[in-house]
Amino acid sequence: MRKLAADRKLMACLAAILIVTAMLGVASNYVLSGVSRTFETAVNSTAQKLWLAGDINMAAGDMLAAQRGILLYTDAQEVASNVRLFDLRSMQVDRDAAELKSLSVNDEELKIIGIVEDSNRSYRKTVHHVIRRDAMNSQDLNEVANAYKSIDEITDQLEILEKNYLGDALAKTRVRLEYGRIALGGCAGIALLIVLLALQAVLSIGKALRGSAKVARDSAEQALASAAFSELLLNSMPCAVCILDVDGNLKRGNKNFLGYSRADMLEKGVLSIVEPESLGAVKQALVATLEEGYAETEAYLVSKDGTKIPAYLTQTRFVYEGEPCILGVGFDISKQKKAEQYSRLQQAALESASEGIVITDAAGRIEWANHAFTTLTGYALEEVLGLNPRILKSGMMDRGFYRALWSTILDGEKWSGELWNLRKDGNVYCEEMHIAPVRALDETISNFVAVKHDITERKQAEQEAERAKEGLVLLNKELREANEHILKISQTDALTGLANRRTLDERMRHEMARADRLGCGFSVILGDLDHFKSINDEFGHLVGDRVLVAAAGVLADQARPYDLPARFGGEEFLVLLPESSLEDAMMIAQRIRTAISGVAVSEVTRQITMSLGISTWGHGDTLGALVGRADAALYQAKKRGRNRVVAQRSDMPPTIAGHVLSVDAPEAFVKIA
Ligand code: GH3
Ligand code: MG
Ligand code: MG
Repeated sequence: MRKLAADRKLMACLAAILIVTAMLGVASNYVLSGVSRTFETAVNSTAQKLWLAGDINMAAGDMLAAQRGILLYTDAQEVASNVRLFDLRSMQVDRDAAELKSLSVNDEELKIIGIVEDSNRSYRKTVHHVIRRDAMNSQDLNEVANAYKSIDEITDQLEILEKNYLGDALAKTRVRLEYGRIALGGCAGIALLIVLLALQAVLSIGKALRGSAKVARDSAEQALASAAFSELLLNSMPCAVCILDVDGNLKRGNKNFLGYSRADMLEKGVLSIVEPESLGAVKQALVATLEEGYAETEAYLVSKDGTKIPAYLTQTRFVYEGEPCILGVGFDISKQKKAEQYSRLQQAALESASEGIVITDAAGRIEWANHAFTTLTGYALEEVLGLNPRILKSGMMDRGFYRALWSTILDGEKWSGELWNLRKDGNVYCEEMHIAPVRALDETISNFVAVKHDITERKQAEQEAERAKEGLVLLNKELREANEHILKISQTDALTGLANRRTLDERMRHEMARADRLGCGFSVILGDLDHFKSINDEFGHLVGDRVLVAAAGVLADQARPYDLPARFGGEEFLVLLPESSLEDAMMIAQRIRTAISGVAVSEVTRQITMSLGISTWGHGDTLGALVGRADAALYQAKKRGRNRVVAQRSDMPPTIAGHVLSVDAPEAFVKIA
């Protein structure tokens, strides 16, 4: 009777504790789950909205690319595929905007989404207008640019708005968490009080409890005693199960384990299948089981065919058939061990790779990085765990670069490229990166693996080579210019800038050869300034020089583009007139003479004049003969009063060739001015 009364007291006490604890649990759970719900809702909704905003932005980028494709390509197939892409992305923008709308309860956001939709409509209208007309005017281009710009700006605004909301939600959550903690603290206090009160009752009925435990043990022994049931149970286990007495002798066990039959085990003893290296640990576990009731250990066993098998063993002390015994359970853990070893191998390989390796989750948070990553970036693994690799951004790559990268890997494709990043110490470096998405069993992307290779030195060498090349090009240009300058100096007269004697001789020889070969005639004009010595004497040598320069300017002006005016020597000039008759030369010489007589040089108070003699090429002529005739004509011009032109034909009869004939003999002197 006393025992029954104690049971009832115990039950009542336990029930009271349970009810109060449950009520307190419900209360604190309500507060905490409210907190978690608020936060989760805010985070999920914000994440969803940010994702949609990013999606809209990316789709708008694709639309812009497709629109460029429509304009760029003439190939109908290319245009059609760009139109398809454009329509697809435009629909996506509308669909995402509609989804955003359904998530937004705020007027400000709804207004922004409305602008996105309007921009998309106007963008779509304009591009389809373009497709029909096959041309795009500046107004269309403006509309498209504005539409894209507004989508871009508006989605950015949306991102900022959402980040602010997330901040608000976080602040509210912190306050509620504080309330939750206070509530939990209260709960813990009350629970402690109740436990102390209950302890008193529990102690008083402990004795009765022990009585109850004996009853339970008796009933367990009865259940185990059911031989058929336990036999079935034993043999259907996917692991080894045995019952040992306190000396380690097998009392019961599965029919077959690691190839041993029950008879083998009985004969050899259970401990005989334990590898010597594990024997100590197993024996120690058996002792611990007898002392403490339970023990577990890993050990190497040997199968009947001699294979060494790693196993996980548990031992529990219990009473079997009225005697204390040990229930042993063994699991073959070869597969796990192999997997562990393989995983260790992979880890070692990844860790010792010379390339930097980073593993992120699907949202881009770093989960693991190897030693080479630390060497490359300067960040230790603990510093970057949970962070986004954007901490390495150098600002040298534009937004489109990252957008293309993310769009590729989120589509499940591999991405490779080169980028400039920032080390922890603030220095930039260039890396070649390969990113591969990893899929989970359900085919969704679970991780990204990025392999990074430092190519800074190569890049710098390339840049230096480029700079050296540019320097060489510049040097080459300077050399060429210097050469041209030297050539010009060697070909021209320093004072007047006209061709010098050397150049003239060369051209004359060339012209002579051409005339001989093709029969096309040419003429020369030899001019000499009148009384130049007295100009020097009267006004000085420097003034004389200026007169020479002015005279050279007249010759250059009056000569035709293919003529060659040259300084022949002192105050004498010669003009070479290719493919020109005596009459052509006369005309040009007259022009020169008239122009010279009109030249004014400061300080020179008298008229400057020039006498000119002309000769023309004839078959069998020599350079000396040709210039000689021009000189003779010049002499005649001087003799006849200066400031005049005299021409001598080459086809004069030999008897009178080289002689001076009078004005009255027009067959010899074509014209005397
Ligand atoms: P004419 O009418 O007979 O040709 O008389 P002229 O004084 O011009 O003849 P002349 O040949 O005796 O004089 C040529 C002068 O030109 C002599 C020389 O001092 C001068 N002369 C030659 N070269 C230069 C030069 O480079 N600069 C200057 N200022 N004078 C020069
Ligand atoms: Mg002279
Ligand atoms: Mg002279």
